[in-house]
Amino acid sequence: MAARLPKRRAAKAVAAPAAESGGNAARLRRLGLTRDIDLVLHLPLRYEDETRIVPISQARDGLTVQIEALVQECKVIYRPRRQLLVSLADDSGELNLRFLNFYGSQTKHFVQGARIRARGELRGGLLGPEMIHPRYRVVQEDTPLPVALTPVYPAGEGLSQSYLRAGITRALRDADLSDTLPTALIDKLALDSFASAVATLHAPPVGVAQTALSERTHPAWRRIKFDELLAQQLSLRRARRARLDKNAPILSARGELVARMIGSLPFALTQAQERVWREIDSDLRQSHPMQRLLQGDVGSGKTVVAALAALRALDNGYQAALMAPTEILAEQHFRKLSHWVEALGVKVAWLTGSLRKKDKLAAQESIESGSAQLTIGTHALIQDGVAFARLGLAIVDEQHRFGVGQRLALRAKVGSGQPHQLMMSATPIPRTLAMTYYADLEVSTIDELPPGRKPVVTRVFAENRREEVLARIDEAVRSGSQAYWVCPLIDESEALDLEAAVATYATLRAALPETRIGLIHGRLPPAEKAAVMQQFVEGSIQLLVATTVIEVGVDVANASLMVIEHAERFGLAQLHQLRGRIGRGSAESVCILLYQGPLAALARERLGIMRATSDGFEIARRDLELRGPGEFLGARQSGEALLRFADLVADQDLVAAASKAAELLLRDYPQCAERHLERWLSGREEFLKT
Ligand code: ADP
Ligand code: MG
Repeated sequence: MAARLPKRRAAKAVAAPAAESGGNAARLRRLGLTRDIDLVLHLPLRYEDETRIVPISQARDGLTVQIEALVQECKVIYRPRRQLLVSLADDSGELNLRFLNFYGSQTKHFVQGARIRARGELRGGLLGPEMIHPRYRVVQEDTPLPVALTPVYPAGEGLSQSYLRAGITRALRDADLSDTLPTALIDKLALDSFASAVATLHAPPVGVAQTALSERTHPAWRRIKFDELLAQQLSLRRARRARLDKNAPILSARGELVARMIGSLPFALTQAQERVWREIDSDLRQSHPMQRLLQGDVGSGKTVVAALAALRALDNGYQAALMAPTEILAEQHFRKLSHWVEALGVKVAWLTGSLRKKDKLAAQESIESGSAQLTIGTHALIQDGVAFARLGLAIVDEQHRFGVGQRLALRAKVGSGQPHQLMMSATPIPRTLAMTYYADLEVSTIDELPPGRKPVVTRVFAENRREEVLARIDEAVRSGSQAYWVCPLIDESEALDLEAAVATYATLRAALPETRIGLIHGRLPPAEKAAVMQQFVEGSIQLLVATTVIEVGVDVANASLMVIEHAERFGLAQLHQLRGRIGRGSAESVCILLYQGPLAALARERLGIMRATSDGFEIARRDLELRGPGEFLGARQSGEALLRFADLVADQDLVAAASKAAELLLRDYPQCAERHLERWLSGREEFLKT
C-alpha cells in the first residue's frame, strides 16, 4: 500500500506543474524554510545508498536494493486488476517490476532492450522475484552511479523528496556557508568547518562511516549539534542581558503587609516555602524584572508564597495581578486570597470574561485608577481595555496552560518598564528540559509538603466493582467526610463530557438516595459554579460529581475520597493533579481509579505508576519517559522545541563546550555571536522570550 503513494503524487505533479510550484513554496514556509540557510540546515533524516548495483541473483528477499537490468517485456495486464508488468534481466537472473498505478506514457520507458536502474524492496512473487513500485530511471550503459548517499529529508505533506533535494542543492551553492566561529575556536575544539559539515551531511561520500551518520556521532553531526547548542547558549545569555537592562520597580522590604500576612496564617511556612520566598524576595529587590518559575507538587503551598510576593508589591505602592487558566481556578484563588488579604485591608478586584458588562467596567476602572491593589482573574486580564496603573508583579498560575502569546501579553500590560513575573506550575520539569523551552528563566522549587499530610492510598478497580465503590462512598459520607466523583474525559468536546457527567449524576442519585449530591461542570454559569463549590466547601454537598473542571487548584480539606471514572482515559499528569484534590486534611484519603477493560499497555502502565507513587516529580519523570518531552510541556502551545539536532542528555559534553564558547564569543567576538544567532535563530526568537 505505502509504496503506491509516491507514484500517485508524481503523476499529479506531471499533470499540474504550475499550481504545484506555488504550493511548494507555501509548504516550505510551513516547515520554516524561508531563507537559503534554512534549507541548508534542513538536514536528512536518513540516507539511501544508490551508489551500488546488486546483481539480481544476489538480492535478498525483503531488502531494499538497487539493480540494473535490460527490459525483456512490458505489458499491461487486467487481472486481478489493471497493472503494468515489466520483466527485466541482468547477467545473473530475472526480475519483474509491478506498477498498480501508472500512467500510459510510462510504458514508453520500457521498450525492449532499454536499460533500467531500479531501486526498491525485493519480494518473492508468483512469477519469481519482483519489486512493486520501485523508483527507477532509464540509463545508458555508461551512466555513472552517484558518488554520494542519497539524502531523505523530513518533508511536510505533499512536498516531494526530489523537490527538496533540488532546492537544498541550490541553497548549498547560493548560501553563505562561511564559518561563524573564529578559527582559533574551531582548531581548539577540533571541529569540522561548517561548510564541510553541511556538505557531508547532505551528500555523504561513498565510504563514509554510515553507522556514525545514522547515530549522529559523525564529526559532521557533532559540528551541527555544537552550533545549535551554541545558538541556544548565546540566546539564553542575550535574553538574560536584555532582561538585566530593563527596568522594573525595586520592591524592597518596607510596609507591613508581608509581615502581617505571615503573622496571621494559621500555620508556619515550611522550610521549602521559606527558601523559595527568600529567592523571590531577593529577585524583587532588583531593578530589573524577575522572571521566575515557582514549581512545586500539587498542594505544596505555592499560593501562599505567591501571595507574599503580591503583598510585597503592594507594600511598595504597586499593583499585583494573578492570572489563572480557568475560571474555577481563578475563583479559588480569589476566595482564598481575598480571605487572607482583605483582612489586612487590601482591595482585591475580580475580572473574568463572564462578568456582566457593568461589573467588568467597574473592575477595569479600579485597575486603571490603581484603587484595585490585587487583581485576580482569567485571561480577561490581558484583554483590550485593561490597563494597570502601576503593575509591579504579574503572577501566572499553571503557566504551561497558557500559550506563549498570552504570557507575553500580561507582561506587556504596563506602559513603561516591566513588571516582575512569577510563574507557577505543579508540573515540575527538569531544569535542563526547561532550558530548551525557556531561554531565560530562574527556577524555584518547593520540594516539601506541609506537615501532617497523609499520603493518599490509590486503588485501581475494574468497572465491575462499582457496587463496592458505592459502598465506600456511603461509608465515607456517613463518617462525615466528603467525596469527589470525577467523570470521564470523552474527548476535547465539552458537550460530551457534560453528557457523561449528567448521566453519572443521575445514576449516583438513584443509587445513593440518602447522600446529598452536587454536580459541577464547565458549562454551568459562573455564579452557579461558585454556589455549588460553596456548598461543597460548607459540607452541605457530600458527594460532588465533576468533570475535570476541578482538575486544578480546588481545595476542600474535608474531602478524603475520590473516584475517577474511566481513569484509563486520563494522562498521568492529569491523574496526579486530580488526586491532589484529596489528602489535604488529616483524614486518611483514598483515590479509586475505576477503569474499563481491556486496558491498553500504556494505560495499564499509567495506572500502575499512579498506584505505586504519589511523588509528583517521579510521576513527571515517568510521564516524560512515556510521552516524550513535547506533549509533556504542551509543546504545541509553547512553540517548537528549540533543539532539533542536539540532545541535552546525550550530548552533555557539547553542552558544556557550547556554554564556554558562548562566553568567549560574547566577550571577544561579538560579531561572530551575532552572525551565529542570525544563522540559527532568525525568526524563532519570540519563543525564547517567554
Ligand atoms: P498548591 O497551589 O501548591 O497546589 P496551595 O497553595 O493551594 O497548594 O496549598 C494547599 C493547601 O495547603 C492550602 O489549603 C494551604 O492553605 C495549605 N498550606 C499551604 N502552606 C502550608 C503550610 N506551610 N502548612 C500547612 N498548610 C499549608
Ligand atoms: Mg495551586
